[in-house]
Amino acid sequence: MPDITNNNPNPEPAEQAPDQAWLYKRTNEAIASDPELVKLRLKPLTRFNTDVTGRAEFIKIYYGIGCECSTAAVLSVEASADKTRGEFQEALPALLGKLKLQAVGFRRMDCDSHLQMRIQMLGTAR
Ligand SMILES: [Zn+2]
Repeated sequence: MPDITNNNPNPEPAEQAPDQAWLYKRTNEAIASDPELVKLRLKPLTRFNTDVTGRAEFIKIYYGIGCECSTAAVLSVEASADKTRGEFQEALPALLGKLKLQAVGFRRMDCDSHLQMRIQMLGTAR
C-alpha cells in the first residue's frame, strides 16, 4: 500500500520507519538463520493485522505456534513506531530472544497445561 502521507520520498532506507511487511521480512530472515528458532516452527501470521489506522504506538507482527494436541498460541514481536529500520535491526536480536522464550515456554508446557490455556482463552475470547 503506498504511503501518501510520506512527504520525504527518498530517505535513507535505514532512517525509514519500519512497516509491518518489512518487519515480517527481517524477522523471518533472522528466524531462518537461527536453528533453534527454525526448530520451533513458527508460522508468520501476516493477515493478523491489528493496526488498521497506522497510528499505533507499536508495530506488531505475529507468529503462530502449534502443538500436536491442536492447541495453538499467537506470539508477537513489537517495535516502537518511532523507531527507524536501523534501530529495529539493532534491537532484533533482543526481540528474537523474547520470541524464543515465548515459543520455548509453549513447547515445554505439557498438553494438560495447553488444554488449560485453551479453556482460559475461550473464556476471554468473544
Ligand atoms: Zn499440547
